[in-house]
Amino acid sequence: MVEKLLDVKDLTTQFKMDKGNLVAINHISFHINNEEVVGLVGESGSGKSVTSLSMLKLLPQNGEIISGEVLLNNEDILKYDKKQIRKIRGKDIAMIFQDPMSALNPVLRVGNQMMEPIMLHLGYSKERAKEHAINMLKEVGIPAAEDVFNRYPHQLSGGMTQRVMIAMGLSSKPKVLIADEPTTALDVTIQAQVLELMLELKKTNKVGILLITHDLGVVAEMCDRVIVMYCGRIVESAEVLELFENPLHPYTRGLIASVPKIGQSEEELHYIRGRVPDLSQLPKGCKFAPRCDYAIDKCLNEEPILRKLGEQREVRCHLVNERGDFIGSCIGRIKKCRKEIYCLQKTIWRN
Ligand code: SF4
Repeated sequence: MVEKLLDVKDLTTQFKMDKGNLVAINHISFHINNEEVVGLVGESGSGKSVTSLSMLKLLPQNGEIISGEVLLNNEDILKYDKKQIRKIRGKDIAMIFQDPMSALNPVLRVGNQMMEPIMLHLGYSKERAKEHAINMLKEVGIPAAEDVFNRYPHQLSGGMTQRVMIAMGLSSKPKVLIADEPTTALDVTIQAQVLELMLELKKTNKVGILLITHDLGVVAEMCDRVIVMYCGRIVESAEVLELFENPLHPYTRGLIASVPKIGQSEEELHYIRGRVPDLSQLPKGCKFAPRCDYAIDKCLNEEPILRKLGEQREVRCHLVNERGDFIGSCIGRIKKCRKEIYCLQKTIWRN
């Protein structure tokens, strides 16, 4: 049975900076169901990590949530005080970070770091917490789990440390796991093992996973639904197959076209020109307009709203009509495009 585990509604976060307040995420809404992996994708600076940190009230001191709700069991956890939210973190919602070494305390043995949250959240005795921690290490495929339990973090390889983090994250039986670039620091084989493990745990523990990544290969393999972010806004969301088969927003199209393909020559490699704008100097209309090859006058003056096109489909673009067709014409500003060697539209259709 599908159960909505976490419901993020209208979340807006700003940072107080010397040059004024910068809105890092702007009216973000999405949900995570049980046994579902939701991908949050976009380039650096698109607001993916700020979204997850806001959800758990882990923002740095200059960060402030100015609107929104994060509903867990129909309660808005953003209204919780420090003590209440600490209980939620780890127990109901666990988080795995990109760099596991910085998330572990280097002077404490792995086992001690694992036992503490188990005793706190599950109320287990020391002996029972130890047994549970070792079982969790075994469950994430760590050989000689008793030995790893007694080691210090620096005595573990990168892949092993990330597995420890996953075991720690899941040891308090959370409903939701937030994984922020969990495999970026790992080599490809370990990456595949860790992703496989997360998929297995999704099924066996029925957790809902929010997977934050810039890697569309990982998204295609892991996710059920995808949310694409740009400049702190959701620009498109869809079921994974639909997104890859029929991306509507020019930014999504650009991201998909930028994934290198086997046999592709250097000339055929695509990139999205320009870069994510500084949050203090956002353009007036569509935030993607300066990089968009389809932009019309309206795009420069009027910010598009996020429109619902179906149960699971939303898009923020003036040139997507009510039927869900993209009606823009490429104005050929890409150098390679002008030479007719390469065309983003052709690439999308061909694939
Ligand atoms: Fe491009 Fe205009 Fe759509 Fe923005 S609204 S993505 S500029 S076509």
